[in-house]
Amino acid sequence: MQRFASGREAALALRPDHPVYCFRPSVLYADTRAFLKAFPGKTAYAVKTNGEPMVLETIAAAGVTAFDVASPAEFEAVAAVAPKAEQLYMHPVKAQADIRLALEGFGIRTLSLDHPVEFDKIQRIVQAFDIDPGEVSLFVRLQTRGAAAYELSKKFGAAPREAVELVQRIDRQGFRVGLCFHVGSQVEDVETYDAALKVAAQVRAQAGVALVGLDIGGGFPAPYGRDPRGAQRPVPDPVSLIGEIGADLRRHGFGDLPLVAEPGRVIVARSLSVIVRVLLRDGKRLYINDGIWGSLSDSWTGKITLPARLIPDPARKRRTGDPNRLDDFRICGVTCDSVDILSRPFWLPESVDTGDFIEIGHIGAYSLSLRTRFNGFYPDTIVEVEHPFEDDRDGLEGFANVETWGEATVEPVSGTEAV
Ligand SMILES: *Cc1c(COP(=O)(O)O)cnc(C)c1O
Repeated sequence: MQRFASGREAALALRPDHPVYCFRPSVLYADTRAFLKAFPGKTAYAVKTNGEPMVLETIAAAGVTAFDVASPAEFEAVAAVAPKAEQLYMHPVKAQADIRLALEGFGIRTLSLDHPVEFDKIQRIVQAFDIDPGEVSLFVRLQTRGAAAYELSKKFGAAPREAVELVQRIDRQGFRVGLCFHVGSQVEDVETYDAALKVAAQVRAQAGVALVGLDIGGGFPAPYGRDPRGAQRPVPDPVSLIGEIGADLRRHGFGDLPLVAEPGRVIVARSLSVIVRVLLRDGKRLYINDGIWGSLSDSWTGKITLPARLIPDPARKRRTGDPNRLDDFRICGVTCDSVDILSRPFWLPESVDTGDFIEIGHIGAYSLSLRTRFNGFYPDTIVEVEHPFEDDRDGLEGFANVETWGEATVEPVSGTEAV
């Protein structure tokens, strides 16, 4: 993989006509360590967020020993880079063949579920393979409601009364039982976790059985850009958010239980940017060579403002517009589909023009994993970059609105608690 100090250096050296991902292993390493240090339990990285081998390798090297997986391809991806790592199969609704493969082929012993029929499936397979149910931990997924940028709780999760019955049944049948929830993605409000913990505490009290753990899922927010017009609140930094969640956990009586978290976005978002090129400027529209069907679908809901930096093409000698004033440009993606227009503008210098490069930062989460081959476009070039996206302060920055968490201090992690 080619290496560069910054995305700007990569853009000017390569002058790429197709999107180029800038992978920052040192940023990924630091953000992983920061989470491990802040979270007082087991950290299971959510593989769906970004399952590229280079990403999984770096996260494992930083000390993560557990992975949240949802499919045979994810079992394989983790086993390939971290054969000794523990896998937690946290997809609540599973194919029988996949449960068999998980239990028998990959030795997975922690699964989630939210329905009695799912328990029947798992129990049949556990019996067929003659596995001791006392070795299998089943986490009952609870329904939650909240204010995530991405609400993921509509599809999965048992209502409290059903959860109580399911917990009791799992316990009676000799399995180890825990509770889990996942409040959505990019959750910027600690109240959302607090509400879920409240439900978990009620279910625990009513079920009246000994639990082996509580898994609080993912959802921890990453920093993105800020619309210069809007008075948005800054994203809470994950360390203080986790501190607040910790206080909520104790208040709801979970101080005694082993904890698990399944972070995705917060760990991987900052570790990648993508360099795109302006194919055409038409007034205040910029047509770029990536888009909704490529690397940028995560921004489609309009809840995230992507930080974007202009890297002017030095070959362009004549420009109009003030390079020292920002304007909002509408971003049209590369496919022949009118859905392929970003829901939020990029704030860039007025002088941006055809042929210029734009580095879009903090796209490590839900970008590469969601790329499609629609219309024949498939960004797939990756280079390695040393410095964090937000460190490049060369000249006027169109992205001047990027959020940062301040200095993430990296210190050795102590062992995480096992469930
Ligand atoms: C997607 C997902 C995660 C990761 O969510 P982030 O918002 O990226 O942290 C964690 N747990 C489950 C069950 C998920 O589906």
